[in-house]
Amino acid sequence: MAAIYLDNNATTKTDPQVIAAMVEMLEVNYGNPASSTHTFGWFAAEKIKIAREQIASLINADPEEIIFTSGATEANNLAILGVTNNLEKKSHGISVPSEHRSVLDPFKNISSKLDCSYLNVKEDGSIDLNELEKTLNKDTALVSIMLANNEIGTIHPIKEIAKIVKKTKSIFHCDATQAIGKLTVDVKDLNVDLLSLSAHKFYGPKGCGALYIKKNSCKLSPLIFGGDHEKGLRSGTLNVASIVGMGEAAKIAKDEIIQHSDNLNKLCQIFLEELNKSNIKFTLNGPSKNRLPGNLNIAFEGIDNARLIGMIQTKIALSASSACQSASALPSHVLSALGFDLKRQKSSIRIGIGKYNSEIELIKAAEIISQSVKKCID
Ligand code: PMP
Repeated sequence: MAAIYLDNNATTKTDPQVIAAMVEMLEVNYGNPASSTHTFGWFAAEKIKIAREQIASLINADPEEIIFTSGATEANNLAILGVTNNLEKKSHGISVPSEHRSVLDPFKNISSKLDCSYLNVKEDGSIDLNELEKTLNKDTALVSIMLANNEIGTIHPIKEIAKIVKKTKSIFHCDATQAIGKLTVDVKDLNVDLLSLSAHKFYGPKGCGALYIKKNSCKLSPLIFGGDHEKGLRSGTLNVASIVGMGEAAKIAKDEIIQHSDNLNKLCQIFLEELNKSNIKFTLNGPSKNRLPGNLNIAFEGIDNARLIGMIQTKIALSASSACQSASALPSHVLSALGFDLKRQKSSIRIGIGKYNSEIELIKAAEIISQSVKKCID
């Protein structure tokens, strides 16, 4: 039996419609969209235009506000380093310690130009908006807060946060990587200046993403030079097949979003009900309500997560925290930001449910996990 794939917060299976759109661009229409002297180039450029429109439409942006990148890591780096490198004097930034490392590490790296304050995180992963308001000052140039957390599923109230940030001159960046395709993301309604996304979290290809840059909102310095692609903000021949695939994934995500998130919520419920029946002691990390659809993070009392994952890994694919952290023995920086002790951190696993999972798989997974947890405790 193939393993049940429950690591959809790490990446998702590529949709067959996305694959078909990509194959066409690799096999038949393989022109370089920057080639302006022949039909191959014109056709590729037209396909990129359509993909840009599809992605813009998913987040209610204008197509010219979309810059293609190699993923959300690059989009986050471009947002944070791009804004900071353009500042005339040392300034102040604000973020949250439970952000993805592709937000935290650029802030660390640029500390000589931007002093970053980190807001406190409550036990459910949320932040105190009064603290945000108090932390903003006249030197705050950039605030970066994610829409939905990739490990514990906390959803931050981005629209309210933007209202507070916009009382100042600060730029507001939001990493929406995990939310796209599961929550409605409307950049105009949210009133963010910059927003990152990644194709492989919504059934598109890996290594492809985008940064939304609100028109006339801010100036960014590029990180990559040469060729002046993407308005000079991201040079390099476009990854045409992947961008076209991301466009197709965005179109599907827009059509399916309500049904998709309802289904993910239902599957989470089924899994938790099955676990409850098994009489093992467990606690949900992160919020109990208003959680990112499809995400669960569970602490099983008295177990070691590495041992549990080792016992089940041929039957169920899941992780203890983010994919980038899964190779290291270090516990999750997100769970640690919530104030959990090492014991709780090391007894926790992350489950990411996606659109290709079935009810039967979730029932089976709950059975395998609960039996293995019992063995871990024995
Ligand atoms: N931000 C968040 C919240 C993520 O979950 C991820 C992927 N784990 C990233 C950024 C980085 O995305 P990518 O894999 O496209 O670099």
